Amino acid sequence: MVSPSYFPGEPDLIGNGTHQAALHERARAATREQFGRGVFVRAVVEVSNFCRENCAYCGMRRDNRALHRYRAQHEQLAELLIEHRPASVTDVNIQAGEDPVAVRKIVLPLIRTLRRETSLGISVCLGSLTPELYAELFAAGASIYIMKFEVGDAASYERLEAPGTLTERLRHIRHLAANGWKVSSGFIAGLRGQTAADLAQNLRLADELPLHGCSVSPFVPGENTPLAGDPTSNANWTLNCMAALRLMRPDWVIPAVSALNLAVDDGYRRGLRAGANLTTMNLTPTDLREDYVIYKRERFIMTEERVLNAIAAEGLTPSRQSLADFYRGAAREVAATVPA
Ligand code: SF4
Repeated sequence: MVSPSYFPGEPDLIGNGTHQAALHERARAATREQFGRGVFVRAVVEVSNFCRENCAYCGMRRDNRALHRYRAQHEQLAELLIEHRPASVTDVNIQAGEDPVAVRKIVLPLIRTLRRETSLGISVCLGSLTPELYAELFAAGASIYIMKFEVGDAASYERLEAPGTLTERLRHIRHLAANGWKVSSGFIAGLRGQTAADLAQNLRLADELPLHGCSVSPFVPGENTPLAGDPTSNANWTLNCMAALRLMRPDWVIPAVSALNLAVDDGYRRGLRAGANLTTMNLTPTDLREDYVIYKRERFIMTEERVLNAIAAEGLTPSRQSLADFYRGAAREVAATVPA
């Protein structure tokens, strides 16, 4: 049973051994209590690696002149998703660097085509855009926006050269939520110098925002970035934060991120045991995804086979309900409990 007032203390966030095992078991049980054995299965397509931002932790930052830049063809992605997506996929996440050109030329036509031809739930992760572009994306048929705040204190945010300021980023999150989007955010665990208090601050911020989900990504030093020489984070911190999020917000959708497997062997499956209930398989065409380098070229690509194997190995099953439908149902339930 989860206490509604749960908030993690330091031992929960940076502990290991038996304390950690007990925390993860509580998070696993809370996930099963809320969601049963079903795990959402989403596909991601990475449509452009152009980015006007310069985040110190990301290989696609604009100052990385060594990176070959690409924009995909919307027709190619539409055909892939309409004709060749795996049967287990109920949702697609359309992702790009912060590239408004790609939003107009590729993402909007792709969403309209998918909306017309499929019943896929549509998420987007496209960075900080204008209110007009958000509205166009929503009208085209996307309903979930992924916008990470990355770190919960303004000074670190600025030092990491994350997009705009933290205040602006939070304003975008609140704007999206106020305009009908289901918003999922996220933060990085294990940056050099980060403490348990910093992790707690990230969790507190997530809890205060109008979110429906949140990810935790382990810090992995990106090639050709100012942080390339920093050590890869201790994956336990990421897993502990995921478990803490689950205990804080049992109803949230928490993804297992593929970078967990870069941080520790079996990290992805451990994420599914520590509160995650969303998996993502990468359907970006092979020739393009090599240049989508958030961290390293040797990304751990979660293929259909890897995702389904991880789900089965944990005794779980792919959800037949899409994430978008789940959120719609949850919204209806809330509406039904509000007195007229
Ligand atoms: S994290 Fe996103 S916004 Fe920042 S440089 Fe990378 S792609 Fe651009």
